[in-house]
Amino acid sequence: MAMNNDDFSFSELCRLCSLKSNNQMQIFDKEGEQRQLLFKIRSCIPSVITKEDALPKNICQKCVYKLDMFYEFRVSCMTTETVLKNYSESLKHLAQSVNSQGVADR
Ligand SMILES: [Zn+2]
Repeated sequence: MAMNNDDFSFSELCRLCSLKSNNQMQIFDKEGEQRQLLFKIRSCIPSVITKEDALPKNICQKCVYKLDMFYEFRVSCMTTETVLKNYSESLKHLAQSVNSQGVADR
């Protein structure tokens, strides 16, 4: 971070990587809300961001991209877990019904 730079502006730094860039997204403006930036940050990162806190409220394009990827990965992992749990349950039920009926019944 270039703390002593003359054109240094703390509020223009990216909230997630602390770099300054020209094309940042605002977490709390309309586009940021449409892109669900705050929701994705809350889902993926254990830091709390509010409108009232003293830190920057922008995210650079690179971090928006990473956040989208990370969020997608998270959602896909959670979906996988649900699918696997359901599959595991159905295997258990299948094993139970086979055990209770007895394989010789068929
Ligand atoms: Zn960034």
